[in-house]
Amino acid sequence: MLWPDAAAEFDRLRATLKWVAEHSPYYRRAFESAGVRVDEIRNYEAFRQCVPILRKTDLVANQRAHPPFGEFVTVPRKLFGSLHTSPGPIFLPRLPEENQGTETLREAIRAMGVAPGEVVHITLSYHIMPGGLRLHRAFEAAGCLVINGGTGSSQLQVELARAWQATVYAGTPSFLAHLVDTARSMSLDPRRDLFYRVGFSTAEMLTPQLRHELQAALGIELFDHCGEAQIGPLAGECHVHDGMHLHARDLFCEFLDPVTGNPAKPGEIGELVATQLGPRALPLVRYAPGDAFELIPGSCRCGRSTPRVRFVGQVGAIRKIKGVLVHPQQVHRVLQQFPQVRRFEIVIQHPPGERYERVRLRIGTDMALPVPDQLAAEIAAAVKSSVLLSMEVEFVPESEIPEEATRPPYAATIRDLRPGKGALP
Ligand SMILES: [Zn+2]
Repeated sequence: MLWPDAAAEFDRLRATLKWVAEHSPYYRRAFESAGVRVDEIRNYEAFRQCVPILRKTDLVANQRAHPPFGEFVTVPRKLFGSLHTSPGPIFLPRLPEENQGTETLREAIRAMGVAPGEVVHITLSYHIMPGGLRLHRAFEAAGCLVINGGTGSSQLQVELARAWQATVYAGTPSFLAHLVDTARSMSLDPRRDLFYRVGFSTAEMLTPQLRHELQAALGIELFDHCGEAQIGPLAGECHVHDGMHLHARDLFCEFLDPVTGNPAKPGEIGELVATQLGPRALPLVRYAPGDAFELIPGSCRCGRSTPRVRFVGQVGAIRKIKGVLVHPQQVHRVLQQFPQVRRFEIVIQHPPGERYERVRLRIGTDMALPVPDQLAAEIAAAVKSSVLLSMEVEFVPESEIPEEATRPPYAATIRDLRPGKGALP
């Protein structure tokens, strides 16, 4: 899947390639060694075939070799407007007009139904990383009154949110859960004594279980949103809450099959490869941060036609099983509907002489064994309908499954016993 449409954006895409080839020593060299001739790139297919992918590790390595910004920068330092840092560390100078995604975020804020004049409590870090400041600027631009809460000091944060009667929470869902616990420990009733009505959940996976808990505790409507430190805001939920709509502004997104490199289709998993359109202090072209998304088929009930995605995790945890790309997080999301499931792992085998691969979903439970067949059948059907793959469900004592198999980054979740198989590059 490509977004926006490659044909509509092709002139901007090619202008960006021309700009970076002229102004950034890194891309000039990378294009030369890959034989890229920008003038000869006539369509997306040619772009995909010849322009090299920039992995996060390449960016970090080049900045280490040529500190602090690497060979990426396109303008003299005196033209920088701000300096941000993201984990790595990756040093990110910005032109004043880049605006940190403010316009894009403003549209996401509007889509959540937040009105000018509402009080917004931001609990992302304002230290060093761009997240807190980026949201702060966007909510201010949307006409809101913004509390720069930052991280930590949860008791003080509860007092601030209560005193200012904040109606919008913006931050990680786990910190919101922590604020709920803190409010209760202060003998407050979160639903009565806090005033949040909308939650902008970001920088962390919002699991269905956590969403349910927070909505029950606060009477809040949570909107999942995702972005990436280097490329900025990427996608956010509408009122339907069935996946996140991709934002469309100054970013050309490819979602590629991690095995073949071809564009993934709706219903499949694709790795994000993003190109920032237009001049940047440190432009990223075909940048792959290593994030995988499920591409949701069909149109959204909200009526918007922009494609929707669901973040599934790091691309390294994906395996191709029976021809289907599977990320353990997709399976985890299904299993969270079943309270009997404590842990899980997926074992793939290809027994010699057998035609098909065998996939077992081993579920660790504290229920008495054997577990009724009915439950196994329900779980198998739920997994099949969501992940599009049949698995044999097998219940085992919880202690048989390693604890780390059931949590991000899910590196230990899939045991691939097929000969010659391992992690994707
Ligand atoms: Zn929608």
